[in-house]
Amino acid sequence: MADDILIEVVSCLQGTAESTFQLAYADDPYLWASVRKSGQTIHVSIGERQIDTVSDLWAEFVRLYPLDFVGRDLKNLTATSLSWIVLHELQHAELGHFEVLEFNPSLNLVSRFHPKTQFPPAIFCRPDGTTLQCLELQADHDAIDTMLDIYSSTSWAGLRRKITSIIVVMVLIESIDEQNGFEHSTHPKAVTRIFQLLGHVVEMWSIPANAKTKARGELSILEDELPSHEEKLAFSKKVILPAFWDAVALAEVAGAKSIVADLGSPEVFFEDIGRAKLGQWDELVTVGAKQWAELKELNASVLESLGHSSI
Ligand SMILES: [Zn+2]
Repeated sequence: MADDILIEVVSCLQGTAESTFQLAYADDPYLWASVRKSGQTIHVSIGERQIDTVSDLWAEFVRLYPLDFVGRDLKNLTATSLSWIVLHELQHAELGHFEVLEFNPSLNLVSRFHPKTQFPPAIFCRPDGTTLQCLELQADHDAIDTMLDIYSSTSWAGLRRKITSIIVVMVLIESIDEQNGFEHSTHPKAVTRIFQLLGHVVEMWSIPANAKTKARGELSILEDELPSHEEKLAFSKKVILPAFWDAVALAEVAGAKSIVADLGSPEVFFEDIGRAKLGQWDELVTVGAKQWAELKELNASVLESLGHSSI
């Protein structure tokens, strides 16, 4: 199955990934994925044995929750999840993370070492691993943006499939990190990553209009460039809320009780997204929202140090 999957992953990434890269399997039982840069070439390795882990979670999810949008082509579902892993890894290179990781020339999808990395500027000297967590959130952010693409009113089933493919990976990473006993030393919690993911999905419909407004050099969005109220309601009902329940279901299938507990109720989860967007940091309730807020200031500083505007 491995070679077929590799072909399928490359096919999924065609027209999506901006970087030229080489994709290979690594015969390492503990490795999920890693990326290293050699000259201008980005090498992404995926642990061959972990493909089964992704496939098994999809299989169980589809068996228990026979949802229309995912279909039953396990190979394609697995490849879609692996595509996001590759995109995440490529973003580390795109964002310039290798330039600051002087003593840590490769990045791993799952925490494999306690952070020993020393960073040159003072801003990167955080012994608690929070700088590395920011780099992970940044790679997630840009990979999510790339994979989910521009909002369209005609591709909601495909969008849900992509969102769920990403959540599959986030849930599994947390499970593996827990098994390794690293307690999120270099990676944010799964609920924090899901919070950022669904925070993006919630406002997807407004992004094209925002981009047009910015391109015109204006501040006010033209109402007729936004979807109708009915369309926004339907998007919430058919994409946003089901994506939350997919996260809960996947965490349950994976046996990740802490994720289920930390996600909380949809009401509180989405209220936190609203509070985060309004900058009401002190009023956040859920675990993921709180960690996201804790990292936000450092994340903005790290991004600026890397020469990017903050997210
Ligand atoms: Zn990463």
